[in-house]
Amino acid sequence: MDELVRAERAERVDLAARGIKVSGDGKAPLVLSVLDSERHILTMIKRLEVQACYWLGLTALEGAEPAQRIGRLIGLLGRLDVHEPWIEYVAAESGRLARRAARAMGDVEPITRFTARCPLCRARSLRALPERELVVCANGGCVEACAMPSCVCLSAGRHIWRYGDAALAELRDTA
Ligand SMILES: [Zn+2]
Ligand SMILES: [Zn+2]
Repeated sequence: MDELVRAERAERVDLAARGIKVSGDGKAPLVLSVLDSERHILTMIKRLEVQACYWLGLTALEGAEPAQRIGRLIGLLGRLDVHEPWIEYVAAESGRLARRAARAMGDVEPITRFTARCPLCRARSLRALPERELVVCANGGCVEACAMPSCVCLSAGRHIWRYGDAALAELRDTA
């Protein structure tokens, strides 16, 4: 199972990387508010426990500490594993929270530069965030080049693609 997950993950990464040349390992710190992260993580741990209990027909802990909720979730993993979407959700969400905690504690998220031009603004400003399987454009003017009125970039301040996005596959020809 682990092998399969790793292989699928590698394939997704490969999809995005196909035809895109990586130049150096340009790493840069991502500034996040520690307090915001803490509040978010505590809220989501509680939500995760409530969700797991709902699926299993159990009652969520009343007024419990985050450590107790995490302990309970760990104890429930065996039962959540019988239903693939459940365990996948818990794995993805806990991984996301762990990464966010690591960032807030000062870990630097690895960032990779591309040589290809951004498909929107044409600047050589693409950066990959392999842990989150995202590609972002670092050019501040790029948002104006995005023609999608409901795009997440309008609030995020930069355009974001998921690995495997068709727009990135086209970069092969522009690299
Ligand atoms: Zn751009
Ligand atoms: Zn956009």
